[in-house]
Amino acid sequence: AKNLGGNRFVLYNATMNRQSSDYVLLESDLNQALKQRQFILHYQPQMNSQTGQIYGVEALVRWQRPNGSLVPPNDFIPFAEHSGLIIPIGQQVFAEACRQTAQWQAKGRPLHKVAINLSARQFQQPDLQAMIMQILETTGCPPQAVEIEITESAAMENVAYTLRILKAFRDMGMSIALDDFGTGFSSLRYLKEFPITSLKIDQSFVHDVLYETKSRAIVKTVIELANNLGVAVIAEGAETQEQVNALQDLGCSVIQGYYFSRPLPADALEHFMNRYR
Ligand code: C2E
Ligand code: CA
Ligand code: CA
Ligand code: CA
Repeated sequence: AKNLGGNRFVLYNATMNRQSSDYVLLESDLNQALKQRQFILHYQPQMNSQTGQIYGVEALVRWQRPNGSLVPPNDFIPFAEHSGLIIPIGQQVFAEACRQTAQWQAKGRPLHKVAINLSARQFQQPDLQAMIMQILETTGCPPQAVEIEITESAAMENVAYTLRILKAFRDMGMSIALDDFGTGFSSLRYLKEFPITSLKIDQSFVHDVLYETKSRAIVKTVIELANNLGVAVIAEGAETQEQVNALQDLGCSVIQGYYFSRPLPADALEHFMNRYR
């Protein structure tokens, strides 16, 4: 594929096919981005609103183009999943998140958990477990510090293999969060069968928690469900004090959202952590 370099950038859309020139160009751009390490991570704190302590951070990938612009994940992750490039991208993300976490812990920063997103597609990777073990070993990041975030769709494709891998992750000491809970084609059976350690309440429910009795009922019920299952619950997308109060009243203490902080580059997150020492 020819490389036009510079500012050219095409967005993936579902009508692209593997033969189209846009598809080939985006694929070659992402390959270039991998080689030149243009994928960077921002970290969003997850706060324990009761203690005021940092519970953990979620690592969120961005594509830093050579012109300096930051491409948000929703603009390239779907393409990366479709093309299979999510596998090498996911590997870089995992390695960087672990490297950074080990470094923060070595410096005595109050960081106990880093949450890393894994796509369904990554669970088709036969050496996923070996790849992760290798990264943990080379970075020195303790497995207890890693929380894998999966979505319901990831859990549902290839159930037997996913289940086996997730159990191995748990045996290694990692924890597992079910992301965007309530938005997928979920079955409560997966909650029972998968070795989940936390549920993330999707932002759509959190946004409406104050104004919609139905959303409030759903949030309340998911929190109770999590309590009854003995798993942690994290609410996502809290933007206002009122939402935080409502979530606390409903019994959810771990909260992630713009109210506390947007996702931040590593150095800015370090400043954030210094305020919570
Ligand atoms: P997600 O895993 O559900 O991540 C949460 C998204 O919500 C992030 O968007 C975050 O910036 C945003 N968010 C957090 N708090 C608030 C808030 O208070 N208000 C609003 N409006 N938004 C909030 P982001 O970083 O753009 O990521 C979008 C999605 O891209 C993620 O959704 C995840 O599905 C995917 N993604 C991001 N990083 C990775 C990655 O490393 N690997 C994979 N496979 N997917 C990733
Ligand atoms: Ca997530
Ligand atoms: Ca989510
Ligand atoms: Ca999402």
